[in-house]
Amino acid sequence: MSAAPAWPPAPPGHPFGPHTLPYGSFRAEGAEGRRACVAIGDLVLDLTAATAALLPERAPLFADGTLDGLLGAGPAVWAEVRAALTRWLTDARHRPAVEPLLRPAADVTLTLPFTVADYVDFYASEHHATNLGRLFRPDGDPLTPNWKHLPIGYHGRSGTVVVSGTPVARPAGQRRTAGGDLAFGPSERLDIEAEVGFVVGTPSVPGRPVPLADAGRHLFGVCLVNDWSARDIQAWEYVPLGPFLGKAFATSVSPWVVPLAALGHARVAPPPRDPRPLPYLDDTGGEPWGFDIELTVTLNGHTLSRPPFAAMYWTAAQQLAHLTSGGARVRPGDLFASGTVSGPVPGQYGSLIELTRGGAVPLELPGGEARTFLRDGDEVVIGATAPGPDGSRIGLGSVRGRIVPPGTPTGHA
Ligand code: CA
Repeated sequence: MSAAPAWPPAPPGHPFGPHTLPYGSFRAEGAEGRRACVAIGDLVLDLTAATAALLPERAPLFADGTLDGLLGAGPAVWAEVRAALTRWLTDARHRPAVEPLLRPAADVTLTLPFTVADYVDFYASEHHATNLGRLFRPDGDPLTPNWKHLPIGYHGRSGTVVVSGTPVARPAGQRRTAGGDLAFGPSERLDIEAEVGFVVGTPSVPGRPVPLADAGRHLFGVCLVNDWSARDIQAWEYVPLGPFLGKAFATSVSPWVVPLAALGHARVAPPPRDPRPLPYLDDTGGEPWGFDIELTVTLNGHTLSRPPFAAMYWTAAQQLAHLTSGGARVRPGDLFASGTVSGPVPGQYGSLIELTRGGAVPLELPGGEARTFLRDGDEVVIGATAPGPDGSRIGLGSVRGRIVPPGTPTGHA
Protein backbone atom coordinates (compact mmCIF):
# COMPACT_ATOMS: atom_id res chain seq x y z
CA MET A 1 0.00 0.00 0.00
CA SER A 2 1.42 3.40 -0.90
CA ALA A 3 0.79 6.38 1.32
CA ALA A 4 -1.09 9.37 -0.05
CA PRO A 5 1.38 11.75 -1.71
CA ALA A 6 2.50 14.80 0.21
CA TRP A 7 1.83 18.24 -1.22
CA PRO A 8 3.39 19.20 -3.55
CA PRO A 9 3.12 15.61 -4.79
CA ALA A 10 6.81 15.26 -5.70
CA PRO A 11 9.70 14.15 -3.48
CA PRO A 12 12.26 16.91 -2.77
CA GLY A 13 14.92 17.04 -5.46
CA HIS A 14 12.79 15.19 -8.05
CA PRO A 15 13.68 16.36 -11.59
CA PHE A 16 9.95 16.91 -12.21
CA GLY A 17 9.42 19.04 -9.12
CA PRO A 18 7.04 22.01 -8.93
CA HIS A 19 9.50 24.24 -10.81
CA THR A 20 9.60 22.02 -13.90
CA LEU A 21 5.97 21.23 -14.81
CA PRO A 22 6.60 19.80 -18.29
CA TYR A 23 3.65 19.29 -20.62
CA GLY A 24 2.72 16.05 -22.38
CA SER A 25 -0.14 13.93 -23.66
CA PHE A 26 -1.23 10.43 -22.65
CA ARG A 27 -3.65 7.59 -23.17
CA ALA A 28 -4.66 5.39 -20.27
CA GLU A 29 -7.13 2.73 -19.33
CA GLY A 30 -10.19 4.39 -17.86
CA ALA A 31 -9.50 7.74 -19.53
CA GLU A 32 -11.38 8.64 -22.67
CA GLY A 33 -9.22 9.48 -25.71
CA ARG A 34 -6.01 11.41 -25.37
CA ARG A 35 -5.46 13.70 -22.42
CA ALA A 36 -3.09 16.64 -22.10
CA CYS A 37 -1.05 16.36 -18.95
CA VAL A 38 1.65 17.79 -16.73
CA ALA A 39 4.27 15.74 -14.90
CA ILE A 40 4.76 16.24 -11.16
CA GLY A 41 7.13 13.82 -9.49
CA ASP A 42 6.24 10.29 -10.58
CA LEU A 43 2.64 11.32 -11.30
CA VAL A 44 0.82 12.97 -14.16
CA LEU A 45 -1.96 15.50 -13.79
CA ASP A 46 -4.78 15.10 -16.32
CA LEU A 47 -4.77 18.65 -17.66
CA THR A 48 -7.77 18.09 -19.92
CA ALA A 49 -9.83 17.18 -16.85
CA ALA A 50 -8.18 19.71 -14.54
CA THR A 51 -8.88 22.70 -16.76
CA ALA A 52 -12.46 21.51 -17.35
CA ALA A 53 -13.01 21.47 -13.58
CA LEU A 54 -10.82 24.30 -12.33
CA LEU A 55 -10.07 26.68 -15.21
CA PRO A 56 -13.04 26.26 -17.58
CA GLU A 57 -12.23 29.32 -19.69
CA ARG A 58 -8.98 27.56 -20.76
CA ALA A 59 -10.46 24.06 -21.08
CA PRO A 60 -10.97 24.36 -24.87
CA LEU A 61 -7.19 24.57 -25.29
CA PHE A 62 -6.80 21.02 -23.98
CA ALA A 63 -10.06 19.43 -25.14
CA ASP A 64 -8.34 17.44 -27.93
CA GLY A 65 -5.82 16.00 -25.49
CA THR A 66 -2.79 17.61 -27.17
CA LEU A 67 -0.72 20.73 -26.59
CA ASP A 68 -1.69 22.20 -29.97
CA GLY A 69 -4.16 24.71 -28.51
CA LEU A 70 -1.81 25.87 -25.78
CA LEU A 71 1.09 26.34 -28.22
CA GLY A 72 -0.90 28.69 -30.42
CA ALA A 73 -2.41 30.65 -27.53
CA GLY A 74 0.63 32.86 -26.91
CA PRO A 75 2.77 33.96 -23.99
CA ALA A 76 0.06 35.57 -21.84
CA VAL A 77 -1.94 32.34 -21.78
CA TRP A 78 1.23 30.23 -21.28
CA ALA A 79 1.96 32.28 -18.15
CA GLU A 80 -1.64 32.08 -16.94
CA VAL A 81 -1.81 28.28 -17.27
CA ARG A 82 1.59 27.78 -15.63
CA ALA A 83 0.60 30.05 -12.73
CA ALA A 84 -2.60 28.03 -12.25
CA LEU A 85 -0.67 24.75 -12.32
CA THR A 86 1.82 26.10 -9.79
CA ARG A 87 -1.04 27.05 -7.46
CA TRP A 88 -2.79 23.70 -7.85
CA LEU A 89 0.37 21.68 -7.25
CA THR A 90 1.99 23.67 -4.44
CA ASP A 91 -0.87 25.14 -2.38
CA ALA A 92 -2.31 22.34 -0.25
CA ARG A 93 -5.74 24.01 -0.29
CA HIS A 94 -6.11 22.74 -3.86
CA ARG A 95 -5.22 19.17 -2.90
CA PRO A 96 -8.81 17.85 -2.55
CA ALA A 97 -9.71 19.04 -6.07
CA VAL A 98 -6.46 18.10 -7.76
CA GLU A 99 -5.52 14.80 -6.15
CA PRO A 100 -8.24 12.75 -7.89
CA LEU A 101 -6.88 13.96 -11.25
CA LEU A 102 -3.39 12.58 -10.62
CA ARG A 103 -2.32 9.12 -11.69
CA PRO A 104 1.02 7.28 -11.66
CA ALA A 105 3.09 8.05 -14.74
CA ALA A 106 3.85 4.33 -14.91
CA ASP A 107 0.15 3.65 -15.63
CA VAL A 108 -0.14 5.83 -18.74
CA THR A 109 1.12 5.66 -22.32
CA LEU A 110 2.73 8.93 -23.32
CA THR A 111 2.08 9.97 -26.92
CA LEU A 112 3.54 12.57 -29.27
CA PRO A 113 2.32 15.63 -27.35
CA PHE A 114 1.76 18.06 -30.23
CA THR A 115 1.21 17.96 -33.96
CA VAL A 116 4.60 18.53 -35.52
CA ALA A 117 4.15 21.22 -38.17
CA ASP A 118 7.42 21.90 -39.99
CA TYR A 119 10.61 20.28 -38.78
CA VAL A 120 13.99 21.91 -39.28
CA ASP A 121 17.26 20.25 -38.35
CA PHE A 122 19.97 22.80 -37.64
CA TYR A 123 23.72 22.32 -37.28
CA ALA A 124 24.59 24.72 -34.49
CA SER A 125 27.54 23.09 -32.69
CA GLU A 126 30.90 24.34 -33.91
CA HIS A 127 32.57 21.27 -32.38
CA HIS A 128 30.22 18.85 -34.15
CA ALA A 129 30.37 20.68 -37.48
CA THR A 130 34.17 20.73 -37.29
CA ASN A 131 34.39 17.03 -36.41
CA LEU A 132 31.97 16.07 -39.22
CA GLY A 133 33.69 18.37 -41.70
CA ARG A 134 37.00 16.61 -41.03
CA LEU A 135 35.40 13.20 -41.61
CA PHE A 136 33.26 14.05 -44.67
CA ARG A 137 35.72 16.47 -46.34
CA PRO A 138 39.19 15.48 -45.12
CA ASP A 139 40.95 17.60 -47.74
CA GLY A 140 39.05 20.86 -47.19
CA ASP A 141 38.40 23.33 -44.39
CA PRO A 142 36.31 21.59 -41.70
CA LEU A 143 33.80 24.45 -41.58
CA THR A 144 32.20 25.63 -44.82
CA PRO A 145 32.72 29.36 -45.60
CA ASN A 146 29.13 30.20 -44.61
CA TRP A 147 29.08 28.36 -41.27
CA LYS A 148 29.95 31.29 -39.00
CA HIS A 149 27.67 33.69 -40.88
CA LEU A 150 24.33 31.90 -40.74
CA PRO A 151 22.70 29.03 -38.82
CA ILE A 152 22.90 26.14 -41.29
CA GLY A 153 19.79 23.95 -41.45
CA TYR A 154 17.61 21.86 -43.74
CA HIS A 155 13.90 21.12 -43.78
CA GLY A 156 13.36 17.63 -42.36
CA ARG A 157 10.41 15.26 -42.39
CA SER A 158 7.81 16.05 -39.73
CA GLY A 159 5.76 12.94 -40.57
CA THR A 160 8.45 10.64 -39.20
CA VAL A 161 8.92 12.44 -35.89
CA VAL A 162 7.98 9.81 -33.29
CA VAL A 163 7.62 9.81 -29.54
CA SER A 164 10.20 8.24 -27.25
CA GLY A 165 9.84 4.48 -26.98
CA THR A 166 8.78 3.97 -30.59
CA PRO A 167 11.05 1.27 -32.11
CA VAL A 168 13.30 2.41 -34.95
CA ALA A 169 13.57 0.05 -37.92
CA ARG A 170 16.99 0.00 -39.52
CA PRO A 171 16.58 1.92 -42.78
CA ALA A 172 17.63 0.67 -46.19
CA GLY A 173 19.06 2.77 -48.95
CA GLN A 174 21.75 3.37 -51.52
CA ARG A 175 25.32 3.42 -50.33
CA ARG A 176 28.84 2.90 -51.54
CA THR A 177 30.41 -0.30 -50.30
CA ALA A 178 33.94 -0.38 -48.91
CA GLY A 179 35.07 -1.61 -52.33
CA GLY A 180 33.47 1.40 -54.03
CA ASP A 181 30.51 -0.44 -55.60
CA LEU A 182 26.97 0.87 -55.41
CA ALA A 183 24.62 -1.21 -53.26
CA PHE A 184 21.09 -1.05 -51.94
CA GLY A 185 20.40 -2.56 -48.55
CA PRO A 186 20.16 -2.03 -44.81
CA SER A 187 22.34 0.77 -43.46
CA GLU A 188 25.60 -0.47 -41.96
CA ARG A 189 26.43 2.85 -40.31
CA LEU A 190 23.34 3.66 -38.25
CA ASP A 191 24.02 6.49 -35.82
CA ILE A 192 22.43 8.82 -33.29
CA GLU A 193 22.43 12.58 -32.96
CA ALA A 194 21.79 13.94 -29.45
CA GLU A 195 19.95 17.23 -29.84
CA VAL A 196 17.67 19.69 -28.08
CA GLY A 197 14.43 20.58 -29.87
CA PHE A 198 12.75 23.99 -29.62
CA VAL A 199 8.98 23.96 -30.05
CA VAL A 200 7.35 26.99 -31.66
CA GLY A 201 4.13 28.30 -30.14
CA THR A 202 2.86 31.61 -31.46
CA PRO A 203 2.81 31.76 -35.27
CA SER A 204 4.66 34.51 -37.10
CA VAL A 205 3.08 36.82 -39.63
CA PRO A 206 3.81 35.57 -43.15
CA GLY A 207 6.49 37.72 -44.75
CA ARG A 208 7.43 39.46 -41.50
CA PRO A 209 10.77 38.40 -40.00
CA VAL A 210 10.91 37.68 -36.27
CA PRO A 211 13.66 39.85 -34.75
CA LEU A 212 15.90 38.40 -32.04
CA ALA A 213 14.15 40.48 -29.38
CA ASP A 214 10.79 38.80 -30.18
CA ALA A 215 11.96 35.19 -29.93
CA GLY A 216 10.41 34.76 -26.48
CA ARG A 217 6.97 35.52 -27.89
CA HIS A 218 7.22 32.62 -30.32
CA LEU A 219 9.36 29.90 -28.73
CA PHE A 220 7.37 27.89 -26.18
CA GLY A 221 9.62 25.17 -24.82
CA VAL A 222 12.14 22.42 -25.37
CA CYS A 223 12.19 18.67 -25.80
CA LEU A 224 15.00 16.18 -26.36
CA VAL A 225 15.65 14.84 -29.85
CA ASN A 226 17.47 11.81 -31.22
CA ASP A 227 17.92 12.53 -34.92
CA TRP A 228 18.77 8.99 -36.07
CA SER A 229 21.14 9.11 -39.04
CA ALA A 230 22.25 6.50 -41.57
CA ARG A 231 25.77 7.73 -42.29
CA ASP A 232 26.39 5.53 -45.32
CA ILE A 233 23.16 6.64 -47.02
CA GLN A 234 23.82 10.26 -45.99
CA ALA A 235 27.40 10.31 -47.31
CA TRP A 236 26.29 9.15 -50.78
CA GLU A 237 23.18 11.29 -51.16
CA TYR A 238 23.95 14.60 -49.44
CA VAL A 239 25.77 16.36 -52.29
CA PRO A 240 24.52 18.80 -53.56
CA LEU A 241 21.22 19.38 -51.69
CA GLY A 242 21.86 18.02 -48.21
CA PRO A 243 20.46 15.11 -46.18
CA PHE A 244 17.41 13.28 -47.53
CA LEU A 245 16.57 9.62 -46.82
CA GLY A 246 19.54 9.11 -44.51
CA LYS A 247 17.70 11.17 -41.89
CA ALA A 248 14.06 10.77 -42.90
CA PHE A 249 13.16 7.36 -41.45
CA ALA A 250 12.77 8.34 -37.77
CA THR A 251 13.38 11.31 -35.50
CA SER A 252 12.59 10.53 -31.88
CA VAL A 253 11.47 13.18 -29.39
CA SER A 254 10.99 13.06 -25.63
CA PRO A 255 7.35 12.94 -24.49
CA TRP A 256 7.72 16.08 -22.34
CA VAL A 257 7.90 19.67 -23.52
CA VAL A 258 9.58 21.75 -20.81
CA PRO A 259 8.39 25.35 -21.10
CA LEU A 260 11.08 28.01 -21.37
CA ALA A 261 9.49 29.51 -18.25
CA ALA A 262 11.03 26.59 -16.32
CA LEU A 263 14.51 27.23 -17.70
CA GLY A 264 15.12 30.78 -16.47
CA HIS A 265 17.96 29.63 -14.20
CA ALA A 266 19.58 27.76 -17.10
CA ARG A 267 20.01 30.82 -19.32
CA VAL A 268 23.63 31.55 -20.20
CA ALA A 269 25.43 33.73 -22.69
CA PRO A 270 26.30 31.82 -25.87
CA PRO A 271 30.01 31.51 -26.73
CA PRO A 272 31.70 34.53 -28.31
CA ARG A 273 31.19 34.74 -32.08
CA ASP A 274 34.01 35.61 -34.40
CA PRO A 275 33.37 37.14 -36.89
CA ARG A 276 30.45 39.15 -35.56
CA PRO A 277 27.26 38.08 -37.36
CA LEU A 278 25.24 40.43 -39.56
CA PRO A 279 22.98 42.81 -37.59
CA TYR A 280 19.80 40.66 -37.81
CA LEU A 281 21.74 37.78 -36.17
CA ASP A 282 23.88 39.85 -33.78
CA ASP A 283 22.68 39.16 -30.24
CA THR A 284 25.40 41.18 -28.51
CA GLY A 285 23.88 42.84 -25.46
CA GLY A 286 20.51 41.14 -25.90
CA GLU A 287 18.69 38.59 -23.77
CA PRO A 288 20.92 35.48 -23.58
CA TRP A 289 19.53 32.50 -25.51
CA GLY A 290 22.15 29.96 -24.50
CA PHE A 291 20.96 27.25 -22.09
CA ASP A 292 23.11 25.30 -19.66
CA ILE A 293 21.44 21.97 -20.43
CA GLU A 294 23.58 18.91 -19.74
CA LEU A 295 22.75 15.88 -21.88
CA THR A 296 23.63 12.26 -21.17
CA VAL A 297 23.82 9.64 -23.92
CA THR A 298 23.58 5.98 -22.95
CA LEU A 299 23.81 2.87 -25.11
CA ASN A 300 22.35 -0.30 -23.55
CA GLY A 301 22.62 1.38 -20.15
CA HIS A 302 26.26 2.40 -20.55
CA THR A 303 27.00 6.14 -20.53
CA LEU A 304 28.80 7.15 -23.74
CA SER A 305 28.99 10.92 -23.35
CA ARG A 306 27.69 14.07 -21.67
CA PRO A 307 27.20 16.72 -24.37
CA PRO A 308 26.97 20.32 -23.05
CA PHE A 309 24.26 22.39 -24.74
CA ALA A 310 25.78 25.63 -23.36
CA ALA A 311 28.59 25.31 -25.91
CA MET A 312 26.26 25.70 -28.93
CA TYR A 313 27.39 28.48 -31.28
CA TRP A 314 23.99 29.46 -32.72
CA THR A 315 20.88 29.92 -30.55
CA ALA A 316 17.24 29.11 -31.24
CA ALA A 317 16.52 32.85 -31.31
CA GLN A 318 19.06 33.28 -34.12
CA GLN A 319 17.65 30.23 -35.92
CA LEU A 320 14.16 31.72 -35.74
CA ALA A 321 15.39 35.13 -36.90
CA HIS A 322 17.28 33.55 -39.79
CA LEU A 323 14.49 31.19 -40.85
CA THR A 324 11.96 34.04 -41.03
CA SER A 325 14.39 36.58 -42.52
CA GLY A 326 13.68 35.45 -46.05
CA GLY A 327 9.88 35.41 -45.80
CA ALA A 328 9.17 31.96 -44.36
CA ARG A 329 6.68 31.86 -41.51
CA VAL A 330 6.54 29.63 -38.47
CA ARG A 331 3.46 27.89 -37.08
CA PRO A 332 2.47 26.34 -33.77
CA GLY A 333 4.19 22.97 -33.54
CA ASP A 334 7.18 23.84 -35.69
CA LEU A 335 10.15 21.96 -34.33
CA PHE A 336 13.72 23.26 -34.50
CA ALA A 337 16.27 20.57 -33.69
CA SER A 338 19.48 22.21 -32.55
CA GLY A 339 21.85 19.99 -34.45
CA THR A 340 24.02 17.42 -32.73
CA VAL A 341 25.21 18.73 -29.38
CA SER A 342 28.95 18.13 -29.04
CA GLY A 343 31.49 19.70 -26.73
CA PRO A 344 35.22 20.03 -27.40
CA VAL A 345 36.33 16.65 -25.98
CA PRO A 346 35.33 13.06 -26.89
CA GLY A 347 33.41 12.53 -23.63
CA GLN A 348 31.10 15.29 -24.84
CA TYR A 349 30.42 14.10 -28.42
CA GLY A 350 26.75 13.61 -29.34
CA SER A 351 27.11 11.07 -32.16
CA LEU A 352 28.80 7.71 -32.72
CA ILE A 353 30.53 8.91 -35.87
CA GLU A 354 32.44 11.40 -33.71
CA LEU A 355 32.94 9.03 -30.76
CA THR A 356 34.42 6.35 -33.06
CA ARG A 357 36.25 8.71 -35.46
CA GLY A 358 34.15 7.73 -38.40
CA GLY A 359 33.93 4.09 -37.33
CA ALA A 360 37.72 3.65 -37.19
CA VAL A 361 38.02 3.34 -33.40
CA PRO A 362 35.36 1.10 -31.81
CA LEU A 363 33.94 1.97 -28.42
CA GLU A 364 34.47 -0.63 -25.78
CA LEU A 365 31.33 -1.44 -23.83
CA PRO A 366 31.22 -3.25 -20.48
CA GLY A 367 31.44 -7.00 -20.97
CA GLY A 368 34.03 -6.64 -23.71
CA GLU A 369 31.57 -5.71 -26.44
CA ALA A 370 32.78 -3.25 -29.05
CA ARG A 371 30.63 -0.87 -31.03
CA THR A 372 31.15 1.46 -33.95
CA PHE A 373 27.61 1.97 -35.24
CA LEU A 374 24.30 0.61 -33.91
CA ARG A 375 23.30 -3.05 -34.01
CA ASP A 376 19.76 -4.39 -34.06
CA GLY A 377 18.53 -4.61 -30.48
CA ASP A 378 20.63 -1.66 -29.27
CA GLU A 379 18.78 0.84 -27.11
CA VAL A 380 19.84 4.48 -26.91
CA VAL A 381 18.57 6.84 -24.21
CA ILE A 382 19.30 10.57 -24.20
CA GLY A 383 18.43 12.40 -20.99
CA ALA A 384 19.10 15.91 -19.73
CA THR A 385 18.93 18.22 -16.76
CA ALA A 386 19.43 21.94 -16.28
CA PRO A 387 19.90 24.31 -13.34
CA GLY A 388 16.75 25.23 -11.45
CA PRO A 389 16.17 27.56 -8.51
CA ASP A 390 18.26 27.34 -5.32
CA GLY A 391 20.79 24.85 -6.66
CA SER A 392 18.12 22.36 -7.78
CA ARG A 393 18.05 20.57 -11.15
CA ILE A 394 15.21 20.75 -13.65
CA GLY A 395 14.64 17.48 -15.53
CA LEU A 396 13.98 17.33 -19.25
CA GLY A 397 13.06 13.64 -19.15
CA SER A 398 14.53 11.40 -21.80
CA VAL A 399 14.14 10.15 -25.35
CA ARG A 400 14.56 6.41 -25.85
CA GLY A 401 14.65 4.21 -28.92
CA ARG A 402 15.57 0.62 -29.76
CA ILE A 403 16.81 -0.50 -33.17
CA VAL A 404 14.79 -3.29 -34.78
CA PRO A 405 15.57 -5.18 -38.00
CA PRO A 406 14.80 -3.64 -41.39
CA GLY A 407 11.16 -3.79 -42.39
CA THR A 408 9.82 -4.33 -38.88
CA PRO A 409 6.49 -2.50 -38.57
CA THR A 410 7.00 0.08 -35.80
CA GLY A 411 3.79 2.07 -35.79
CA HIS A 412 3.53 5.44 -34.14
CA ALA A 413 2.82 5.57 -30.43
CA1 CA B 1 20.53 16.45 -36.83
